[in-house]
Amino acid sequence: MPISLNQGEALTTLLAALRKDWNPAGIRAALKKASFLGSAAEVAVAACRCAADPAMRTPFLIAEPGPHWQGTTAGTRQAPTMCAAHPAQKAGACPACFKAARPKPANFTLPPRTRPRDWTPEPVVSDLAAVRERADEMEGL
Ligand SMILES: [Zn+2]
Repeated sequence: MPISLNQGEALTTLLAALRKDWNPAGIRAALKKASFLGSAAEVAVAACRCAADPAMRTPFLIAEPGPHWQGTTAGTRQAPTMCAAHPAQKAGACPACFKAARPKPANFTLPPRTRPRDWTPEPVVSDLAAVRERADEMEGL
């Protein structure tokens, strides 16, 4: 069973008391993100382990894979592959690498559309009549 709102608020209060350097709004957001990763007890265990680690500078890391999830169902998750050039960014979603990617060639054009942008199919009159007839039958008319 995922963590409830009341459990999340109680855990936020506890974590904010344990870690004065963590913002309660940040804790709340991290718990919301982590709530799908395990039961309420597992999220609480992982969050408390995270709070116990001074290297965890931000509650955001609660929802990230790591040793704090060990022994929980979420502990088997694979850590994401990080960008080789920018270790803080996930590979394939690195904004710096995206910007640095090779630009489109000058002569690049998208293939032409097969239909004009404002194309709408004309209703087929015989189909329309059949649909009306079926609708009347369903309404008992
Ligand atoms: Zn990168």
